[in-house]
Amino acid sequence: MLEKILVIYLILLLTCSQTFALSQKSEKKAWERGGFSKVKIYHLNADRFATENEVQQFTHKFALTVVLIRESGWTINLALENFQKAYEIFAQCGVKLNKIKLVIGHAPLKHRVADFGILGIDRFIALNTPPTLHPIVYLMEDTNMYFIETLNIHNPHMSYAYFEKVKSFPELVNTTWVSSFINMNSEKRLRAGYNSLAHELGHILLNDGHVLEKIPNLMSEYVDLGNNKLTKKQCEKIKNSPLVFPL
Ligand SMILES: [Zn+2]
Repeated sequence: MLEKILVIYLILLLTCSQTFALSQKSEKKAWERGGFSKVKIYHLNADRFATENEVQQFTHKFALTVVLIRESGWTINLALENFQKAYEIFAQCGVKLNKIKLVIGHAPLKHRVADFGILGIDRFIALNTPPTLHPIVYLMEDTNMYFIETLNIHNPHMSYAYFEKVKSFPELVNTTWVSSFINMNSEKRLRAGYNSLAHELGHILLNDGHVLEKIPNLMSEYVDLGNNKLTKKQCEKIKNSPLVFPL
């Protein structure tokens, strides 16, 4: 029921310029050709995440495409909770998570689990779905990354980001895959304040791996030092990302 109310709310938030309405129909079909079904596309204005007593002065902004796969353990409500946390984390830098294009659809199992052992599967989605705004986040069931996990000590089997520096597959650059496991209570308790979605977006916006110095921050190599903070240096680097724009 709660989800139904949220869907109605999202529909009310839908951007409805005429050109957009026309292109949306073909975009929906293009996602369906890529293996998704019953696709719905919403445009969220992230001002909805602003808190009442927000004093943050934003100087920069970025936007996202998020693909929420049904039957993956992700619900709209869980996605909104994570967007809220990511909004708050990047707000520290004066960087606003400004707009989110939310694509919701059903998908077969091969799309619900990112299997990096057979890169073709994941490239299939990127190669067969319409070109869209990046960064792009896939909210999926699992990320089975048995050979990549050593690069992601922070979140093995939870999430992964493919940032510009990696570059082997250009169509995957600025993509992140986040499994529904990040929403487990045990995970939340272990990493209070930390947010996996924001961490993965951090890789993309910073175009960099983990921080090896023992400074507590969002991008720390060490689980114990991972929190919701970004350093001044990280904030400056994010503002200079080609994916981030001055307001
Ligand atoms: Zn990481």
